Amino acid sequence: MIFRQLFDPFSFTYTYIIGSRTGGEALIIDTVLEHVNKYIKLLEELDVKLVKVIDTHIHADHISGISELRDRTNCITIMGDACPADVVSMRVSDNEKIKLEKIELQAIFTPGHTNDSFSFLMQDRLFSGDALLIRGTGRTDFQNGDPYDSYYSIFERLLKLSEETLLYPAHDYNGNTVSTIGEEKKYNPRLQVKNADEYANIMNNLNLPNPKMMDVAVPGNLSLGIDFTKQKTINGLSFKDFSTYIKTNEFKLIDLREKEEITKNGIISNATNIPFHTFLDTFKKNRKLDNKKKYLLYCAVGQRSSLAIQVMQSYGFKDSYHLIGGIKEWIKKNNPLKLDS
Ligand code: FE
Repeated sequence: MIFRQLFDPFSFTYTYIIGSRTGGEALIIDTVLEHVNKYIKLLEELDVKLVKVIDTHIHADHISGISELRDRTNCITIMGDACPADVVSMRVSDNEKIKLEKIELQAIFTPGHTNDSFSFLMQDRLFSGDALLIRGTGRTDFQNGDPYDSYYSIFERLLKLSEETLLYPAHDYNGNTVSTIGEEKKYNPRLQVKNADEYANIMNNLNLPNPKMMDVAVPGNLSLGIDFTKQKTINGLSFKDFSTYIKTNEFKLIDLREKEEITKNGIISNATNIPFHTFLDTFKKNRKLDNKKKYLLYCAVGQRSSLAIQVMQSYGFKDSYHLIGGIKEWIKKNNPLKLDS
């Protein structure tokens, strides 16, 4: 496994690169927009292909690099399902696994710092976002934060992990790089409390100023997705037109989501599941053979399908379309789904 911890000295953010192996796939957690060139260069030097980028929560102190990375590398953008759906292309639920070849990351819903915060556990390493920091905890006084949620997330979820678990937070303001769950249990001053009320009392009296970037960063980070207007310009179809096109039988219907998402939400009848990156790879390889085929693509919220259509158009394919808003729109309009067994 390849593992790198990178630091942004302006927002004190840590970014983590995880690669499955040299020549294999990589993912990156909590990126900062200003460093996207650096990440791309390092990924090339490490000889890994970026396939997924995760944000632990909507950040208030910096603009995330997820949309820039998505546009430049066609990676899948991921957050927990408590974030608004149109920010990222894939949303994971509590305890769901994110796969990176043989590596798995488990999503853990840890609200409190914000109401959309998730942590991610990879073997003996915990990426806690701002839910749990080294000798501190993420503030709970804005972005729908709640000290009682924070207490529950930390005491009932994160501190229940093995004491040897390595803690990698999204920020550190004191030069610390890593800790363990056991160390934080013993020495984190905010965790030396008898109950949730005592913890909430500490959190409600921190009197911190708002982050300098907050007014810019929060709205900026909430608009990182490919919105419906943009999706429409990339051969996007409304659910009504999409269903009409399906009935013509002129198109090959492809579901670009991952197996786990299909198990969770179901699939449109007669669709073939080819996960996004596999589809792009096979398309690039076979495009000369396939140039008579016409495709109808869809995914979770229309972001991966937009990227796929853009790639196809760059190779001269004009007659393929995708569903604006993805399966979420399909479900919203009460269209039937086949449950994948
Ligand atoms: Fe934060």
